[in-house]
Amino acid sequence: MNTVATAGAAAAVKTAFDRQGALGEDARVDRAMAGFACDFGALSALRLESCIHCGMCADACHFYIATEDPQYTPIWKVEPFKQAYKRESGPFAPLFRLFGFKRKLTADELGQWQHLLFDSCNLCGRCSLICPMGIDVAALIEQARHAMFEAGLAPKELYEKAAHQKRTGQPEDSAEPYRDKLLAIGRSHGVDIPLDKPEADVMLTVPRTDIEHYPEAVAALARVMSHMNVSCTFRSDGLVAENYAYYAGGREWQRDISRRLIEQALACKVKVLIVPECGHAYSALRWEAAELYGRPLPFKVRHITEYLAAQLDAGKLRLRQAANGVSTFHDPCQLVRKGGVTESPRKLLRAMGVELRELDDHGAFAFCCGGGGGVLDIQRAAPLRYRAMESKLREVDQTGAQTFLTSCSDCRRTFDDGKRHFNWDKTPQSLLELIADHLGSAQEARS
Ligand code: SF4
Ligand code: SF4
Repeated sequence: MNTVATAGAAAAVKTAFDRQGALGEDARVDRAMAGFACDFGALSALRLESCIHCGMCADACHFYIATEDPQYTPIWKVEPFKQAYKRESGPFAPLFRLFGFKRKLTADELGQWQHLLFDSCNLCGRCSLICPMGIDVAALIEQARHAMFEAGLAPKELYEKAAHQKRTGQPEDSAEPYRDKLLAIGRSHGVDIPLDKPEADVMLTVPRTDIEHYPEAVAALARVMSHMNVSCTFRSDGLVAENYAYYAGGREWQRDISRRLIEQALACKVKVLIVPECGHAYSALRWEAAELYGRPLPFKVRHITEYLAAQLDAGKLRLRQAANGVSTFHDPCQLVRKGGVTESPRKLLRAMGVELRELDDHGAFAFCCGGGGGVLDIQRAAPLRYRAMESKLREVDQTGAQTFLTSCSDCRRTFDDGKRHFNWDKTPQSLLELIADHLGSAQEARS
């Protein structure tokens, strides 16, 4: 275990960072600090004041575990903001300023932190779970990302995708608009795609990752909903589940992107908005959208896994036995640690008779795949991401399972990328697709 106090030396190593806009150096720092202060409340202050520098969060973080580099200690990742808090608003702030104990940061120093706040943090929350003082370190890192965005210091990939999504509803250009791709997936998989119905009980969204990489998962969603005879619809103007501004730290953009989906859900008077197999979309919509929208949402937000488990309980989802061999399952961080969606996938697997062999660290203690929080999209982060994911691949191997399942398409893509990089012999599969392949009749469900 390291201690937080040792982290400073390693952080002196220079790293590349991206800038947006033409702000002067002082203005960047002032914007960052104002952005941090804007999010910063009594709770965050209490969190920063409570740290006892025990270093336990380091042992929870796969980036630290893989490298043993003290700069990857989770609480160290918010150090500039901690220093700014002490200098500007902590209980000894006047003394710190008077005696010059805490000098103001430079924009370059702040830019160095882009690597720690974005490239080496998945916002996975494992450090928050482990901290003996109950400090939600991941929430502090998320707040620090907001400040970096305000200062024009977000990684370019995340910034550009967020800007594109705010403008057009999808995070990047595609040869065909996603609406047309969605309909094409329906035609090629022989499944009806409910689109732009004026009213429905359920609104469906789709991960951009599935549209681009896993069209069979999109077809699986439509097939399962049709099997249950649910009144549902996709909406052309509210299709994409992911929120790239959530990754980039742009709060107003995040609100605008969420609002697009909320307004479509309101327009068709749904009771439930379904987040498909995507962990961060779930956090952005279920836990943050109402606050940004400024009022409670008059519909429920549910991840497809928890929705299907409830439908199974209600007898509306019928499943038959899957000859799947021994399987293991990767719990997406945002579902288990923020949403407590631990039992739902296991219930669905049991209903299909799947023999589940758990990873050593599963459920709330599962390690991240390494790609969450936008890290998968940051190109320069790839070497570190591969180091961080190695132990996860080993855990999967140690189960001896033949089938490796998950319920987040970005986790799936991260593992697929790891498969190519490491020449790994496992292929990550979608739980939703497994379900769609084992829809049963009422008689089969009873037997
Ligand atoms: S585990 Fe908690 S108290 Fe210990 S160093 Fe990390 S943030 Fe501070
Ligand atoms: S949220 Fe996850 S990736 Fe980020 S510092 Fe904490 S444990 Fe590490």
